[in-house]
Amino acid sequence: MRFPLALTVKIASHIVKHKVARTPKFAMVLQLEPLHTCNLTCTGCGRIREYSTNLKDMVPLEQCLAAANECEAPMVSICGGEPLIYPKIEELVAGLHEQGRVIYICTNGVFMRKKMRDYLAAVYTPKMEPKLQRLVSEQLVTEKEAEAIRNAEGAAKTKVVIRPSKWMYWNVHVDGLEFTHDLIVEREGVFKECVAAIKMAKILGYQTATNTTVYKETDVQELEDMFKYLSSLEVDGHTISPGYDYDAAKKDMAKRLGRDPKEFFLTREMTRQKFAKIEEWGKMFTIFGTPVYQEFLAGKRELTCTAWAIPTYNVRGWKAPCYLMTDGHYAGYHEMLREVKWENYGVVDGKARDPRCENCMVHCGYDPSGALGTNYQAGDNWKNFAYNFGAKPKPVAASAELAKRAYNGVSIGKGHLSEAKAAINSPRAAMNGAQSVFQRKGHHDHDEAGMDTTQRDELLAKVDAAKKVGSKAD
Ligand code: SF4
Ligand code: SF4
Repeated sequence: MRFPLALTVKIASHIVKHKVARTPKFAMVLQLEPLHTCNLTCTGCGRIREYSTNLKDMVPLEQCLAAANECEAPMVSICGGEPLIYPKIEELVAGLHEQGRVIYICTNGVFMRKKMRDYLAAVYTPKMEPKLQRLVSEQLVTEKEAEAIRNAEGAAKTKVVIRPSKWMYWNVHVDGLEFTHDLIVEREGVFKECVAAIKMAKILGYQTATNTTVYKETDVQELEDMFKYLSSLEVDGHTISPGYDYDAAKKDMAKRLGRDPKEFFLTREMTRQKFAKIEEWGKMFTIFGTPVYQEFLAGKRELTCTAWAIPTYNVRGWKAPCYLMTDGHYAGYHEMLREVKWENYGVVDGKARDPRCENCMVHCGYDPSGALGTNYQAGDNWKNFAYNFGAKPKPVAASAELAKRAYNGVSIGKGHLSEAKAAINSPRAAMNGAQSVFQRKGHHDHDEAGMDTTQRDELLAKVDAAKKVGSKAD
């Protein structure tokens, strides 16, 4: 089977229950944002630009669990911000398990290994030694960390931890191979960390998925190479969705990066071109979502937006109308269902009811439409059934060639910052003062992966300026 049986049955019965009861609108996936703080500043991320990223602005644990109870979605995607920064993330996951939800932890991967070391420390017994030694030999855990795991006692042994479960997926953000991904997340080394985290998760028996946003710049062949590489790591599934031009992200892009958002985000037509091979990928790789949504992405049919089926709950309440646009926040899910004029949103027969919806084909608006049978066409139910209950695509065999294609950035000295560093070290750039920018320590609370984005922006601006001065002098 493509997806675990228990999980597929849970979701299918939820749909059937509501269809039988003729519930007009109901939740399929709750996008739960306990906080908006993040350790990265990805280009194109609307969240960290629209909301406060102050750690004080968090949804209390009880409120998160109450939101999941209220909307009764069988799946909860914990996102943010970076959810692993949420101080009660373990308790949140445990609480959602108790409620019987399917849980996705959408993470940028940077803190995943730390959380899995916490798990190891809590459950370690000498029986686990072969696994621990494998993690050390594959350099996923250092010898020092392994020793700390073996010798853990007290609070580390009683700590609530995130354990492997058939009801939970790590959902790691990966937007391309090394060079592209690190460029989009604006930090070198993140791709490598994500891969290490995925490898460690697989060894420990966690279900692991990835989510990818496709932008105008995304190269289709690279996407296929990325899926092949991830498949060779035996990743359990992939979400893929076109990027959407959040207002907040657009403004940020113009102001901070000096770029025209049109260079970055997709129109509907471009989305269809980028996703021309999505159905083929659906056969080759374990792509989450329905084949009906895949046909929509490939431009073979229209769907009507069902944003109410993937509601977002965050520090300001239930966000309407959708994950992407904010026209208001409501205190309750049912209140939001009642109050929002849903007929004013989405694209119907190619016509946008709201101009902001015009280029939107994102999964949180349209993937549920495929599962819920809006715009139903004969054979759709069978298609969805065959896709979900059909055989899982075989993993692509790991090879040196795939790995070589994947590590095409900082690992081989071709990172965007490495190139900037090289440019800065040129005598011309030194004259222009760029080296001092690079040498200055950032004031953000970023961690081990190096330079923060303020440095990067200043650095790249200086490199640019140095090039201009140089070309005038030539
Ligand atoms: S990892 Fe990137 S996309 Fe995700 S919340 Fe942080 S900045 Fe936004
Ligand atoms: S079409 Fe997209 S932007 Fe518009 S309401 Fe639906 S999900 Fe939101």
